[in-house]
Amino acid sequence: MAGELGGPRLAARMADVRESGTVELMDRARQLRARGQDVVSLAGGEPDFDTPAGAVEEAVRALREGFTHYVSSRGIPELRRAIAGKLQRENGVAYDADTEIVVTVGAKMALLSAILVLVEPGEEVISFGPAWVSYQPMVALAGGRLVAVPLRAEGGRFAFDEAEVQRAVTPRTKVLLVNNPHNPTGKVFSRDELAFLAGLAREHDLVVIADEIYEHIVYDGRRHVSMASLDGMRERTVTVNGFSKAYAMTGWRLGYLAAPAAVASAALAITQQTTTCATSFAQKGAVAALTTGGGAVAAMVAEFARRRQFLLERFRAIPGVELIPPEGTFYAFPRLPGDTPSTEVARRLLEEKQVAVVPGSVFGEAGEGFLRLSFSCSLGELCRGLDRLEAFFRGG
Ligand code: PMP
Ligand code: GLU
Repeated sequence: MAGELGGPRLAARMADVRESGTVELMDRARQLRARGQDVVSLAGGEPDFDTPAGAVEEAVRALREGFTHYVSSRGIPELRRAIAGKLQRENGVAYDADTEIVVTVGAKMALLSAILVLVEPGEEVISFGPAWVSYQPMVALAGGRLVAVPLRAEGGRFAFDEAEVQRAVTPRTKVLLVNNPHNPTGKVFSRDELAFLAGLAREHDLVVIADEIYEHIVYDGRRHVSMASLDGMRERTVTVNGFSKAYAMTGWRLGYLAAPAAVASAALAITQQTTTCATSFAQKGAVAALTTGGGAVAAMVAEFARRRQFLLERFRAIPGVELIPPEGTFYAFPRLPGDTPSTEVARRLLEEKQVAVVPGSVFGEAGEGFLRLSFSCSLGELCRGLDRLEAFFRGG
């Protein structure tokens, strides 16, 4: 039988792989703007800042100097060394730049590679729900199943129930996928929470995929703790990170994974057989981002903190909408009043108020009843968006 759009019959695996709710909304807001509509987009997880100048200069220089050919599938050696240095310095974990690090096309390809390398058909991956939109489809591509343990909004924080995580473990569980800081709730997992999860991984012989792409974006003096730095975890953790969020390099499509050599070698084989390598000149820019971009990251995080403060203040005046302050990331995940489906609220917000937000339900069942707003846009845009949201919820 042909698919919905006609044409050839699609592979059965595509039943579980739909378009990304976040990327689709970003595209829709972009299209409406291109048609001249005054749409405020609080949908996309994409920093509005320019990439740090040093990174741009190095990439341009590399292009001009003809650094435009295939490079090592592991990533250029100077970038792998810079990543190893960063992981040691900031995350307290030592990795061998020659055998344990693979540079990928965005953190997305690092995640997909890690999942394909580890998950057999029929095996389960435990994560937390709401879960970032791409985890479930990636696990489905491997033939596995994502089991989402709910994060509940209780006592002013999003938290999981330890017994519930324990109960989710079955003989088929292979991987624990921990996104910290967490998209979409903004939760930053505490050291104690991570230690519990690490203990569970050790007890049941699970591998942890630690998606730490928002690690720098934390608030109120919090510190991000890396899963691989906990006792006995380096050998059973795949750390995934990238340049999109901290360095405002979304379009560069650069990420990486760090893992014990056997996992890294398997991920390398996937890279060689699919993308060959991440873009050569972009990698030159990324070296500069890692080695000289610290000041730019701090300035961006300070600006995110200002926007977050502004958003928290504005939300106090929005009736009926409860917002747990995000501890990290640039997302706010307010709970909606009433029981109108979040897709319906998001649709009306776009049609009636021209403000794009992501319905919580795209992050799975546990996200229903919430909206995700991104404050990765300018304070002016954020202010315009919040004016419209406030008018909407006041019924104006
Ligand atoms: N993980 C999470 C939780 C994300 O929100 C994103 C957003 N794009 C990614 C991974 C992938 O980032 P990228 O592929 O742009 O490096
Ligand atoms: N990660 C961002 C988000 O959640 C960008 C879009 C995507 O890759 O999902 O909005």
